[in-house]
Amino acid sequence: MFQTRIGRLRFLPVMTFGLSMALFSACEPSNVGGLPEEVTVNLPSEGAIDEALASITEEEIREHTQVLASDEFGGRGPSSRGEELTIQYLTEQSAALGLEPAGEEGTWVQEVPVVAITADPDMTLTINGGSGPATFEYGSEFVAGTPRVVERVGFEGSEMVFVGYGAVAPEFGWDDYAEVDVSGKTVIVLVNDPGFATQDPDLFKGNAMTYYGRWTYKYEEGARQGAAAVLIVHETAPAAYGWATVENGWTGTQFNLVAEDNNMDRVAAEGWITLETAESIFEMAGLDYQELKARAQVPGFEAVSLGDLTASLEITNTIERSSSKNFLARIPGTTRPDEVVIYMGHWDHFGMDITLEGDQVYNGAVDNASGVATILEIAEAFTLLDPGPERTVVFWGTTLEEQGLLGSAYYAENPVYPLHKTAAAINIDALPITGATHDYTIIGFGNSGLDEYAVRANAPIDRTVKPNPEPEKGSFYRSDHFPLAKQGVPAHYGSAGHDNIEHGEEWSRAQSDAWTAENYHQVTDEYSAGWDLGGAMQDVFVWFRIGLELAYSNAFPTWNEGTEFKAIRDAMMGG
Ligand SMILES: [Zn+2]
Repeated sequence: MFQTRIGRLRFLPVMTFGLSMALFSACEPSNVGGLPEEVTVNLPSEGAIDEALASITEEEIREHTQVLASDEFGGRGPSSRGEELTIQYLTEQSAALGLEPAGEEGTWVQEVPVVAITADPDMTLTINGGSGPATFEYGSEFVAGTPRVVERVGFEGSEMVFVGYGAVAPEFGWDDYAEVDVSGKTVIVLVNDPGFATQDPDLFKGNAMTYYGRWTYKYEEGARQGAAAVLIVHETAPAAYGWATVENGWTGTQFNLVAEDNNMDRVAAEGWITLETAESIFEMAGLDYQELKARAQVPGFEAVSLGDLTASLEITNTIERSSSKNFLARIPGTTRPDEVVIYMGHWDHFGMDITLEGDQVYNGAVDNASGVATILEIAEAFTLLDPGPERTVVFWGTTLEEQGLLGSAYYAENPVYPLHKTAAAINIDALPITGATHDYTIIGFGNSGLDEYAVRANAPIDRTVKPNPEPEKGSFYRSDHFPLAKQGVPAHYGSAGHDNIEHGEEWSRAQSDAWTAENYHQVTDEYSAGWDLGGAMQDVFVWFRIGLELAYSNAFPTWNEGTEFKAIRDAMMGG
């Protein structure tokens, strides 16, 4: 097997690097609050960097991956024996590298309390009024559940309002709730955002999905508005997945974080309805769904009452509380230890399914044993740097990513290190396994100044940086960097593109599509000696360089103008 050692890759001389840094910093917006007046980057010598890079080997990434993805680790299910083994492995490896525990109270972990809520599928959505009544069937016509930690929740005779996209987006001059009070009411909301619907580049971000388009946002906004229930109309194109995905994902046990109020401030019922269900509900009210949908795409749209229609629903739950662990290790900063740079990647996967015939272990080798293995290797390289990083570098194995980014969301709401002192996060989720590429894709390209870090980090290995080709699918909102971004911390998520050096673009896309169809989130995501980690080693080089520049600089990368996370970051840095 060909071994790539990225230590052999040459990096630009420090001088050039410093110059380009100065050029880029000139473009950054003026300082707010406690930001440094002058940006400095004091990298170690090129020789020291090369030496550190040389410690990152493909062989060691393979070894860590094999252990983490072994059947013994049982698919690394949260709260399982697999979790114990994983945390133990990460602790041993980190201690051996000389990292410090970086979790709560001097430990290696942050405890993440969660609740598993299983709704009784025997529920019916009843709509009264208009030409009704009508009832809709759970699973095939609607799905619903509650984040509230209660055995029984429901409502009867709740008035219904169509709120368009249900977005309150001041930076886009948009407020679907401006003229309506929805307290105690059931809102019907469209998926995605007006930009995607119209493909108008001047509306929201055009084809690229904004956070206002994500289902999580629809429920959060509904809660802020005091709605009793939020029902999202499913349509395949704007959702980017079919009804089967909604039905599978929303029935059965749902994991949630638990706030002190047992999530009572969240909407009682979060659900989806099929397009057919939506059309028939609107028809009952004498309204035309397609016509109202078209109106909702025009600026100035005002929410529309569904007349005398009311909704009734009762949800009965089985509740089980448990907890899982975020793993946290660090190298303390030498000159500014209170400032933090984060490498993150989820250690959890789906565990085991003992009802399966044959293989029962979701090994999650690519997703994301490979990412965690990589973080250990990057950590090792950082320990070898002399002088050590000016800022504290935190290496974080997140939990419960596969259950809805819960481990990272918990940290983002209960940060171990203050977010306003956290310069940026780099998320690693699944290594590429099909070889070296001419390109590097950033998910969420255009969001923040971190893009420029990635451009600089890819330059020495002659890779072009490209935006994610399918921004309408909202991938930026679907991995662990997102909860941090949502709280304002600039976060980078990128990896090798499809311009494969050896086999070209078409081959690469076909490989990737085939892998997704055959292995993604299946028991067949297993380690293979046949992986070509050429692209992965390029990526590791890039991620290391991005972190390096962050860790030896006093710069705080900023969100770009018009990005939905800019306001919260500006407020925190100014205050
Ligand atoms: Zn993943």
